[in-house]
Amino acid sequence: MYNEDDLIPISALQHVLFCERQYALIHIEQIWKENFFTAEGKVLHERVDVEHHELRRLFRQEFGMAIRSLGRGLIGKCDLVELYLAPGGGVAEAMPVEFKRGKGKEEDVDRVQLCAQALCLEEMFSIEVPRGQLYYLQEHRRTSVEIDGLLRAKTVSLVDRIRALLDSGTTPAAIYEKRKCDRCSLVEVCMPKSAGAGGKRVDRFVQAQIRAARAECAL
Ligand code: SF4
Repeated sequence: MYNEDDLIPISALQHVLFCERQYALIHIEQIWKENFFTAEGKVLHERVDVEHHELRRLFRQEFGMAIRSLGRGLIGKCDLVELYLAPGGGVAEAMPVEFKRGKGKEEDVDRVQLCAQALCLEEMFSIEVPRGQLYYLQEHRRTSVEIDGLLRAKTVSLVDRIRALLDSGTTPAAIYEKRKCDRCSLVEVCMPKSAGAGGKRVDRFVQAQIRAARAECAL
């Protein structure tokens, strides 16, 4: 069991899967910059994250539901959870639904986030959560995602990787990949094409650059 202080935000999973350096910049160095993609995603989530619920007989929709798992060491929020209530009380089934901008992606970034939500809901309600759903803004439809053994294993291994990165306290070196870096909100601070930034904390790299510039001016 993990302490409240040691819980990993579920959002970190998509960052570490997209790029370990991006994860470290955001979660270890606490650097965040908006770009068009993140701003659009934020607006979408602000629309659905307001905590409220809609109740029908034996069916309940919880919007912006806070979730956590002390067993897995995860914490986060679900855009929407559909709860099917047991006639005698309690929750019989739970379905997490995650709203995303754009279209479905080849990478598992959205699926691991959904899986982590399912793991939390399983612990919270002592049930199995065999599937979740992703709703993509551009597609205007829900896609069902099986929370199968492979997806669970991948999600758990990402959590382990995050804990290893946190323990190391280091920022992985930048590896420039056009398809990722060109849409990354942190490209300007990461400087992936600059060999000097690789493997160093960005703040220390920038400080070194300032010191070098000052030394040049003093000559
Ligand atoms: S710019 Fe590229 S290497 Fe740097 S954090 Fe973003 S995706 Fe990773």
